[in-house]
Amino acid sequence: MPLLRIDRAAFHADIEALSRLTDPAQPWTRRSFTPLFLEGRAWLTERFAQAGLDVRIDPAGNLIGRWPAAEAATPVLMTGSHSDTVPGGGRFDGIAGVAASLAAVRAMRAAGHVPRHTIEVVDFLAEEPSDWGLSCIGSRGMAGDLGPRELALTGPGGETLASAIDRVGGSVAELSAARRTDVAGFLELHIEQGPVLETEGIPVGVVSAIVGIGRVRVRFAGLAGHAGTVPMAGRRDAGLALARFALAVRDEARRAGGNGHFTATIGVTRVEPGGANVVPGAAEAIVDIRAERDEAMARYVDTLHDVAAAAAAAEGCTVERIETLSLTTAVPCDEGLQAIIRAAAGRLGHATRPLASGAGHDAAFVARFAPSAMLFAPSREGKSHCPDEWTDPDALADAADALLGALVLRDSAPPFNA
Ligand SMILES: [Zn+2]
Repeated sequence: MPLLRIDRAAFHADIEALSRLTDPAQPWTRRSFTPLFLEGRAWLTERFAQAGLDVRIDPAGNLIGRWPAAEAATPVLMTGSHSDTVPGGGRFDGIAGVAASLAAVRAMRAAGHVPRHTIEVVDFLAEEPSDWGLSCIGSRGMAGDLGPRELALTGPGGETLASAIDRVGGSVAELSAARRTDVAGFLELHIEQGPVLETEGIPVGVVSAIVGIGRVRVRFAGLAGHAGTVPMAGRRDAGLALARFALAVRDEARRAGGNGHFTATIGVTRVEPGGANVVPGAAEAIVDIRAERDEAMARYVDTLHDVAAAAAAAEGCTVERIETLSLTTAVPCDEGLQAIIRAAAGRLGHATRPLASGAGHDAAFVARFAPSAMLFAPSREGKSHCPDEWTDPDALADAADALLGALVLRDSAPPFNA
């Protein structure tokens, strides 16, 4: 099998061109459903067509470029990512994957590759949290996971998600037709968004699983009082119960997870009544937990109950409430496709390592209807979702070459297993 490589200059030019379509006041911003997002989509539509792809928008609002197999009714090999960004995001998150998929198709065509599968490049609609409070909208649609509750969500100006999807070219009336049962495999290139690959000098990360995410809210009750007149002894300071709890959340997280990826973070806190001269009478926190292993997640959430009770007791307070706000399970990536990515990188001479994705991705939804896998390119200093987000151009092209190789290997591998 020939060893193909992408056209690096064209690949980088695509990322550059797309990144220029940003809100000038807040680089790099191209929020889903906005006029800028539609400009990006118009540009992508043209690039897809120039690569010889048949372009359409599916009923869930995904932009899809299709390269039909010679034989009719063959299963689909899908690849892609997303072109929307968070506010003040970076130039690579999402876009790198769409551009890499497109570059791979161009390289296959230039080499005269005759696909055994129909190949589709997808720009999924609204992977990032949108103004409708929902992320991964397009991939949810493909998975049949956009129901009346989601479609009725309202965004800016009271527009429902249903009408927003229609506005960007989808067709909610025919949403069931967005569901896919014809996909034999899905591959997504993404930037790592963490520091592991750069630290270890490894060019290609093979994603083992996309973590499950839990959110637990804890509320401590104490006794409010005057900061100057209530003596230190005998206080029931709910803020201090929360402080003890926060340290325990970190310590327990370091012990949890076994060999798998595990993080726990308190990014939201509130003390009440919230006066500089008042001993806090109540305090609240939301713990974000991410785990590669569902058992580790379950054990940790149980532990939080004990840890919160101990923190409260140590400060003469009580746990007023502890509740799990949301909990998703981890999504393992397809083993066969992981092996194909490793093989493709190996043929190029690139070392790989397995790692879990601590962030959510469209691939987690695609995995509900097709074998899915992801590969990561190194992120400088692990930064993402910020203007400083950067991946070395050569490193990114190396990962794109690995994506190309994996697509060729998977396309050539019998049997078709849609
Ligand atoms: Zn992304």
